[in-house]
Amino acid sequence: MNLHEYQARSLLKQAGIPVPDGEVASTPDQVEAIARQLGVPVVVKAQVHAGGRGKAGGVKLADDPTKAREHGEAILGMAIKGLLVEKVLVVPAAEIASESYLGLILDREQQRPVFMVSAEGGIDIEEVAASTPEKITRLAVDPRYGLLPHQAMSLAFGLYSDFKQVRAAAKIIGQLYDVFMTNGASLVEINPLVTTPSGEVLALDAKMSLDDNILDRRPDLAALRDLSAEDPSEVEARNAGLSFIKLEGNVGCVVNGAGLAMATMDLVKYYGGDPANFLDIGGSSSPEKVINALRIITRDPAVKAILFNIFGGITRTDDVANGIVVATRELQVSLPIVIRLTGTNETEAIRILDGAGMTALSDMDQAVERVVQLAQEAA
Ligand code: GDP
Ligand code: MN
Repeated sequence: MNLHEYQARSLLKQAGIPVPDGEVASTPDQVEAIARQLGVPVVVKAQVHAGGRGKAGGVKLADDPTKAREHGEAILGMAIKGLLVEKVLVVPAAEIASESYLGLILDREQQRPVFMVSAEGGIDIEEVAASTPEKITRLAVDPRYGLLPHQAMSLAFGLYSDFKQVRAAAKIIGQLYDVFMTNGASLVEINPLVTTPSGEVLALDAKMSLDDNILDRRPDLAALRDLSAEDPSEVEARNAGLSFIKLEGNVGCVVNGAGLAMATMDLVKYYGGDPANFLDIGGSSSPEKVINALRIITRDPAVKAILFNIFGGITRTDDVANGIVVATRELQVSLPIVIRLTGTNETEAIRILDGAGMTALSDMDQAVERVVQLAQEAA
């Protein structure tokens, strides 16, 4: 789950990181009122789940409240990377002497949180990473020991030479590690981390992604979810108890079990196709789940053929077969469907499908090859 900047800022602030206080507005009137109350200059910032807002015109400096209002008018309602801006953050503008980059991500290969730090932060960080990667320092943290003081100091020395600033940055780096670990983050980023002309070190932007698995334990974090900023089909799937991720291809996949779903996607690729989604209908699959899954998949106009790949362990394949029969009738699915099922109650499942004029394959390769071919013919 991605957080908005204003939400991430508040988590950083709770951890003690110096972040200028701002307020969120959803109308130009509110923008002006906040600017009057905070005092100018202010920065008006689009709140969307996308980076590069500065370059897209979604971050603007205003020297008086009327100007702030005009920026509010321009930014509210604009689209950044296809995302509609419904809220802006208004913050007192800081004076900037230098901009650095401070990021912490979960590196799945190293199986550790990894810091990425650069003295050349700001809106061109992607360019720095691409053309001069040596300017980004990386440090993996062993979560058994946590971030050690000398590690924080060594990262901070990479940013600043003034010792007061080094100490301030080392403290922020430690606090960032705590924010990351205590909130189940997969990414936390401060870009820019600035120094002011008077020598302060401040966080002027915050980006944060959380692992969804922490949300059941942390209702305070779950409450930060902004459904209007998410893919509607993924929201619907989550409400129906399905794990669903939309992808770019044209083969719709309905699978039980995350591992089998991954293997199915690999096999679709192997036979020259492209999966339209990842979908795990879970262990015990009621007909209802199948109906929901099919409804979500068929709403995507890119889908040209659908594959069911069901391994009956706890899942009863006859339940799934009933679901397929009811769902295709109810939703009047006109797309070609290939069904592969095997395992618990499979004889019963085949009988149910037979009765509805459908056939099931038991070989996974055969089924995948077939559905890829059907999708290609229809494309
Ligand atoms: P992003 O482009 O989505 O990462 O948005 P940022 O919040 O990082 O803002 C983009 C750029 O706007 C920053 O790199 C700064 O150069 C500038 N900026 C942001 N906040 C301030 C501020 O308080 N004062 C000044 N002078 N510039 C700011
Ligand atoms: Mn930024």
